[in-house]
Formats: sequence, structure tokens, C-alpha cells
Amino acid sequence: MNPDHPKIVLLYQSLLGIYGDHGNAVVLLKRLQWRGFDAELVTVEPGQPVPTDGAVYLLGGGEDTAQITAVKELRADGGLFTALDSGAVLLAVCAGYQICGRTFTIGTRDEVIEGLGLIDAQTRRGPQRAVGEVLHHWTRPDGTTSLITGFENHGGWTTLGSDATPLATVELGWGNGDRRHEGAVQGRVVATYPHGPVLARNPDLADHLLSTALDRPLEPLDRPEIEALRRRRIDAVRAGRP
Ligand code: GLN
Repeated sequence: MNPDHPKIVLLYQSLLGIYGDHGNAVVLLKRLQWRGFDAELVTVEPGQPVPTDGAVYLLGGGEDTAQITAVKELRADGGLFTALDSGAVLLAVCAGYQICGRTFTIGTRDEVIEGLGLIDAQTRRGPQRAVGEVLHHWTRPDGTTSLITGFENHGGWTTLGSDATPLATVELGWGNGDRRHEGAVQGRVVATYPHGPVLARNPDLADHLLSTALDRPLEPLDRPEIEALRRRRIDAVRAGRP
């Protein structure tokens, strides 16, 4: 990874691109550029080599069967694993989260599919689909907290093993399925269910990923319009009018 030219790598939009999570890549790119970085957005489709020198990698939400293809392709390519071993950060959303686990099932099928094994998590079909606006409490590694807003839409419910830590606790929504915990963190992999895109709604989380990837604190950005939109969204969700 070249810290003077950080790359944001958006993976497999043709497979995992139906929930608008590519917006996460744009948010990361803009927040680097606003700070003067010569940042680049790289998009990679199945069959193309995954670059190993990216700063942040992104996996998004998608339909059930696409998840199986994504796992096969990512495993065959191997570039994502190399990048993570070299210190890159991965944000995996929803279907992307599920495939990063040890195993998952899809839709109404009972077949257990092996995931990428990047997170100690297992996903199985839940008793109902988790759909709706969410509000979660995220505790950063330094102990400070921030709210995460977004919307969830997933039939799979996820259970974490002891190597993974929940990303946040649930105020509103299903989270991983138990209505208590949301998402997972393991090493430099951050996984979460909310779309939105989640980084557009939660710039603190975006900056956390960037500063982790670059191994340095980032100067704050003063964007009152983003904060105002975020505040409105949080108030609306709490008032039950999403
Ligand atoms: N297909 C998965 C599920 O329903 C993921 C859906 C999504 O990415 N929103 O659990």
C-alpha cells in the first residue's frame, strides 16, 4: 500500500452490487480527496485480478446465489487474502459480511457453504427476514462511542465465535439477528448489515476505516451538511418515521 496514493478497491459489483453499497467506495474516496490525498478508486470484477496493494477493500450486499460465486472467485484469486495479510482493511456489508464468515446458507436451502473464513461467524436462515431502519451503538477501539444508522434487509442471521467481536450493540433493528449485537470485527475486517450506504450515513465509521488502513490519525473534516442530514435521519428513525 502506497500511503501517498491510497487505493480504494471495490469488489465484484456485478455480483454484490444491488443495494447501492458502492456508495461506500465513493465516500472513502471523497474523504481522502477532501484531505488532499491523491486517492484512487479501483473496481474489480470476477475474473480480474484483485490488486494486493489497496488500502481499503469493499464487499457489498447482494442476492443469495451471487454469494456462492463471489466466494469461489475470491478464493481462487487470493489477492484479497494477500492484501489483508499486508495490513489492508476490509469493509464487508450484508451478503459481503456473510461470505466472510466460516460458513453460511442461502435462501431457503439448507446446504452449508464454506465462507472465506476471515471472520469467526456462521450465518443461517433466521425465523424471519430482518428488514427496516436500524440504529446501533458503535464503540471505537479507544472506547468512545458513536451511532450507526442505516437499513437492513437480510434473511440470514449471524452468530459470532470467540475470535470475532460485535461491531455495535442494537438500539433499533435486528442486527446479527438477536436484536443485541450488530456486525463483527476481526483484525482489520469490519463487517456490518446496514446499507444506506452505511459510510454515507456514518462518516465516523468511514474515517475509522481510513485511519486504520493508513495507520495514522486523520485531520477532522468540517462538513456541517453531512452532520445535519445524519442528525435528521437519527431523529426520524427514533421517531419511527423512516
Ligand atoms: N442474501 C443475503 C440475506 O438475505 C444478503 C442480503 C443482502 O445483502 N442484503 O441474508
